[in-house]
Amino acid sequence: MKLFKSYSEKEVKRLMPLVEQINGLEGEMSKLSDNELRGKTDYFKNQLKEGKTLDDILPEAFAVVREASKRVLGLRHFDVQLIGGIILHQGRIAEMKTGEGKTLVATLPVYLNALEGKGVHVITVNDYLAKRDSEWMGKLYKYLGLTVGLVIAGMEPKEKQEAYNADVTYGTNNEFGFDYLRDNMVIYKDQLVQRGLNYAIVDEIDSILIDEARTPLIISGRANESSDLYKKADSFVRKLSAKVIVEEDVKDYAQAEDNENYDYIVDLKAKSASLTQKGIKKAEDAFNLENFNDLENSTLVHHVNQALRAHGIMKKDIDYIVKDGEVLIVDEFTGRIMYGRRYNNGLHQAIEAKEKVKIADESKTLATITFQNFFRMYDKLSGMTGTAMTEEAEFQEIYNLDVVEIPTNKPMVRDDQNDVIYKNENAKYRAIVENVKESHKKGQPVLIGTVSIEKSEKLSKLLKDAGISHEVLNAKYHEKEAEIVAQAGKYGAVTIATNMAGRGTDIMLGGNSEYLAKEEMRNKKVSPELIEEANTYYETDDQNILKAREQFNSLVQKYENEIKEEKEKVINAGGLKIIGTERHESRRIDNQLRGRSGRQGDIGESKFYIGLDDDLMKIFGGDTITKVYNTMGADENLPIDSRIISKAVENAQKKVEGRNFSIRKNVLKYDDVMNAQREIIYKQRRQVLDGENIHDNIINTIESVAEVIVGMFIEGEEQTINIESLNTEINNIFGIDMLDYIKENKDNTQNIIDELKKKALEIYAQKEEEIGSEQMRELERIVMLKVVDEKWMNHIDSMDELKNGIGLRAYGQKDPVVQYRLEGFDMFDEMVSDIKFDVTKILMHIREQEETKRHETVKITGAALEAIHSVDGGAKIGTDVDRTVRNDGPKVGRNDPCPCGSGKKYKNCCGRNQ
Ligand code: ADP
Repeated sequence: MKLFKSYSEKEVKRLMPLVEQINGLEGEMSKLSDNELRGKTDYFKNQLKEGKTLDDILPEAFAVVREASKRVLGLRHFDVQLIGGIILHQGRIAEMKTGEGKTLVATLPVYLNALEGKGVHVITVNDYLAKRDSEWMGKLYKYLGLTVGLVIAGMEPKEKQEAYNADVTYGTNNEFGFDYLRDNMVIYKDQLVQRGLNYAIVDEIDSILIDEARTPLIISGRANESSDLYKKADSFVRKLSAKVIVEEDVKDYAQAEDNENYDYIVDLKAKSASLTQKGIKKAEDAFNLENFNDLENSTLVHHVNQALRAHGIMKKDIDYIVKDGEVLIVDEFTGRIMYGRRYNNGLHQAIEAKEKVKIADESKTLATITFQNFFRMYDKLSGMTGTAMTEEAEFQEIYNLDVVEIPTNKPMVRDDQNDVIYKNENAKYRAIVENVKESHKKGQPVLIGTVSIEKSEKLSKLLKDAGISHEVLNAKYHEKEAEIVAQAGKYGAVTIATNMAGRGTDIMLGGNSEYLAKEEMRNKKVSPELIEEANTYYETDDQNILKAREQFNSLVQKYENEIKEEKEKVINAGGLKIIGTERHESRRIDNQLRGRSGRQGDIGESKFYIGLDDDLMKIFGGDTITKVYNTMGADENLPIDSRIISKAVENAQKKVEGRNFSIRKNVLKYDDVMNAQREIIYKQRRQVLDGENIHDNIINTIESVAEVIVGMFIEGEEQTINIESLNTEINNIFGIDMLDYIKENKDNTQNIIDELKKKALEIYAQKEEEIGSEQMRELERIVMLKVVDEKWMNHIDSMDELKNGIGLRAYGQKDPVVQYRLEGFDMFDEMVSDIKFDVTKILMHIREQEETKRHETVKITGAALEAIHSVDGGAKIGTDVDRTVRNDGPKVGRNDPCPCGSGKKYKNCCGRNQ
């Protein structure tokens, strides 16, 4: 018996009266006819109009959803699901274990909040789940008179507009975020697809807001740069010798003699690679340079650095795979292949050169935002997941979201066993295979989780050698894998899966009747479309569809019965067994794996196998584990099952989690600077799109340019005006010749300014007369949009460069983020000033026949543009390598702290080549 209640227990207890209220309404609701129940939607909308709040109508609205769900889906929300629903409505995170029915939980707050008519977004991790959930739960919303939309990549803007205008919209985080960015690149208002960010429920919120938070969304276009230099850098680096460091210990950092013995040094932990003195010498010879690190060689240095990373750090089949001549990124957390994403900063091209595939054109960033800042724009944000508690602090700090652990519907009985540790991977794998064999013999289904595709394949081979048939899932084909994983609980099933494979799919003991029914229909050669129609719910009189549905339902029934017996057998064999083949960097991911077993009170077990040579152990485990291991004097093939080791492993994980959190925080700190600027620019764009009259704005702009321009040519101690230069510039910007006037008034700048303003406005008014006021207003908007877009897109790139270089220029105690913010604001001011000058210049030179049609600065739909979700962001800041040592800063002593902010001494860090 616990003495104190946890935070979650208290929070849950506080909601019990509400739950009772909802339960109390059940009898009443069940007596309503279908029409009466549907009528509640209008009734609630009226109540809101009359001033009631969502909280006021919550109990009744939830009772309506539960009743509708019973009728339409045949599912009655459990009490714990009501609690989860309330938490979501309150804009918090509901932690609910796998199999607790989160998809159904969401229907409660979705319905309630949709009543306000401002749109509710339900965000899932992939298109397949968005589609599945929107169709499955869509049946319920439609029954209650709400509209449902689905946003999928590649849809036409018209279709997207419709989806976003629906009461409820399902889609992925990527698509919602990209649409936001794209909306801020359109040139006419009717091209906007989104209508504001009101309320979001994020499914698997940890995966979206934590795992993906290091990698900002980026829309980029292509800049044409030759791929030649990548190839040259690649063939140069190929011939070099490397020293690889895995330990974190400073002692093991580059030694003086390494400078003579190796060409470059790879530090796996810091994910950095850089040339030694010897390497630099070789580069100078190879490329015929006087001094490799001179500013004028910075392009080459950059290419060489990326080639070093490509060869030293990026590992084929772990970090990326090569498929059909393309380099595809593998997500380190989930093992998923991230189609369409590219490493930024030329790293992707460097890997393409290394793998000798076609090198894609370099891309230019046109718009970018982090998920953190995107999701913080929602008026209300909430989320659900099976695993959030370990990241509670981060959710609180970054998103102001608290996590409430919702009790399970039935008590959890899964047996989570202690970790066992082996001396090396081979011994570990032998033990795993033995364990699988044992379970397999008694028919117990086993799900084996791996951290990478490569490891999945290795294990698969071992199981094959042992004669155990099994399935392997790599998160490549969401839909197909969902079907396979759904059967992972069948009697005798053995399934190997990377972290993300089949996530969101429920594993039922004995198998999944719906998926089995689908499979049988496929075997009977029913067309895929018809199978889908059979499994999608909407009203139709199409006889083919109705027949298919009937067939589907009877197959489901048949399999239900078969599964009942199967399930008994599986339960007798011990339920689903989870085997973890390695501890992940994050405890959360391990918990997700365990969570695939033991759903809804099912029996099950889980166990992790660890090798001393696992990456986590090697890099972060430290000496303790090895020492403990050695004192126990174990035989290589005997495992150690020790609490000390489990603790040490957990500590290692906490260490990495903490480090990853700070990396994410850092990404955010930098993006916050951009965010402030982005808001200003996007707001201005919106005004233009909304067709607002910006004439006053333009007049102000012209006047302020007049002031600035005169000030620019006051020179020297005497503060005299450089008459000729000023006149040339005035001519250039305003198209006015004022030489005589300036000469006469050279001692009175205010006169010059006033005269310039007067003349400029006269000319502008004259132009307006010729062109017509209406057309002039549109021209003002066109010019503003075009100039702002152009400058802003260049600014994004400059800010990126600033971020990469800032570590070097922020010396001593200065915080690089502060420096970045200060310099970033200066650059922003400069950009704003540039915009003013350009706008003035264009408008002062505008002619009558000027076309009044808006043009995109970049074509967002054109083939010249690719949308990417770029990876690398996190690693790039602070810890990373783009440490092109420049010669323009003050000198740093060898024993000073390194200016890159790593905390190491300069000689052991960026300065080790000096
Ligand atoms: P989660 O995402 O929480 O792991 P899902 O939403 O995939 O869970 O649902 C798991 C399974 O539980 C589904 O098959 C669903 O039909 C079932 N389920 C959910 N809620 C209920 C309920 N109230 N009664 C019966 N079955 C339910």
